[in-house]
Amino acid sequence: MKGKRLTAYGERLLRETPVLETLRELDPQGVDEALRIAESCSEFARLYAEPRALELDALMERDPEYFDRDLVRAAAKYRLFSMVVPTVLGGLAGKYMLTAAALGIEEICSACAGIGNMIAATGLGACPLLTPGGMPHWDTVLHEIVEGERRGEPVLMAYAITEPSAGTDVEEPHFLAKARIGMEARRVRGGYLLNGRKCFISGGKEAKYLTVCAATDRDRPLETWTVFLVSRDMEGFSVPRVERKMGQRVCHAAELLFENVFVPEENVIGYEGDGMPMGILSIMAASRGPVGAVGTGIARGVLKNFLSWARRKRGGKKPIDEQRIQMEIADMAASIQECRGLILDHSLAGDKIFGSLLVNPMMKALFALPRELRLSKPYRSFLHSRWGKAASARLLRLLVSEEDMTRLLALASLAKFASTDMAMGIASRALQLMGPDDSEERRRVEKCYRDVKVTQIYEGTNQLNRLTYFMIEHEGTLRVELPRPR
Ligand SMILES: Cc1cc2nc3c(=O)[nH]c(=O)nc-3n(C[C@H](O)[C@H](O)[C@H](O)COP(=O)(O)OP(=O)(O)OC[C@H]3O[C@@H](n4cnc5c(N)ncnc54)[C@H](O)[C@@H]3O)c2cc1C
Repeated sequence: MKGKRLTAYGERLLRETPVLETLRELDPQGVDEALRIAESCSEFARLYAEPRALELDALMERDPEYFDRDLVRAAAKYRLFSMVVPTVLGGLAGKYMLTAAALGIEEICSACAGIGNMIAATGLGACPLLTPGGMPHWDTVLHEIVEGERRGEPVLMAYAITEPSAGTDVEEPHFLAKARIGMEARRVRGGYLLNGRKCFISGGKEAKYLTVCAATDRDRPLETWTVFLVSRDMEGFSVPRVERKMGQRVCHAAELLFENVFVPEENVIGYEGDGMPMGILSIMAASRGPVGAVGTGIARGVLKNFLSWARRKRGGKKPIDEQRIQMEIADMAASIQECRGLILDHSLAGDKIFGSLLVNPMMKALFALPRELRLSKPYRSFLHSRWGKAASARLLRLLVSEEDMTRLLALASLAKFASTDMAMGIASRALQLMGPDDSEERRRVEKCYRDVKVTQIYEGTNQLNRLTYFMIEHEGTLRVELPRPR
């Protein structure tokens, strides 16, 4: 089957990414869907993110708590929060969910990485719900995201794993085993009481729902690490402060305080104690590639502004007429293209896994049942029961292999550290070449330089990502172990 005629945007994108052009020959419908999502992101970037990037950056330097609700509503018009909601629920996450997300995030971040991260924070928060253990919440929380977008009142989410005493330590099993964990989830009748703090949580201030990882026994954090779904209106939950940020200012980094927050049993995602494989490793296996795309997006933004700066006359000459500048531009373009390749390697491998989870016939059959039935008490009680949890663990093991998930984590880490280090290098080099200059282009590149630093830190520092890659590919000491039915 031939694909439909492409828009000018689609044609350009395929020219830049030959692997997608080849894939389109085999699966025109699937690839065209991903291109449409990327094109929406590109339009949002051009009409909303780029024109406001410098203004919002300056505004939020003065007032780090400012939140631009209109911008979030505009993103909802483009359905950017539904990018992680499965198509069976009316969202956009289909067969090429990760590829579409990577292309789309790159587009938005080429205009403003802070706005990109503000949008992506909801996707990251929703990720743990996309695992079979999160299925009981598809018809409630994920449905609400789609409905919120329709109403023009987006429902935001955030993902909280970092604690003041444990950052890198919670992102890798060997480290978590020895980590000093501050937050605790104590088992009580009907659920758990959460006490402690999480810090640096992107989007945490405005999120209506949060997926939170915590240990049920602080002396055995690895064995008892568990994913909880928390709603911001739960008693005892508060956001005492947000950070004053150097870059990506549009996206708040919040501290979260939990004081005897009661979380009911039904809000445990999957099994208690499966937080490392299902709340960290599988999530990072999906999300670190798109963080790499934040890097390529920022690098593209740098290159675009550097080109425009170089084409204007300075002291009677255009920098772009000098061969040394032409070679710099060629080097920047080569590095971006190289990293895009790594990101696409990751996203296409990931789509084989997550595509099979989200759009397989079994899932379609389940969601063909009337919604009233899916919301009925017996149906939901089954999903939350031991049998329901065992069925979802079996489904996961049937559709996904531990080898594939482990390999995906290695590809994700590689794409993440290589692309974000590359972007840091390009931003630094361009800024140095532009020198003292008060042009808008230089100010945008300076913002990129500040925005890119945190991409080397979040989703696991680049040091950790290098170690993760090494442990998987060269040492064989790290492996994603999927939950077993209990
Ligand atoms: C702006 C921002 C947004 C964030 N958003 C989120 C979010 O949404 N959700 C969330 O949960 N977290 C978030 N984080 C937290 C982020 O993931 C952590 O900051 C990160 O994991 C590093 O942890 P840390 O800050 O405690 O540094 P540390 O773990 O203390 O690391 C400090 C340095 O030591 C190195 N290091 C540590 N251990 C090792 C080791 N064993 N071997 C080699 N080097 C090591 C690190 O690589 C790093 O260079 C965010 C952070 C920032 C700054």
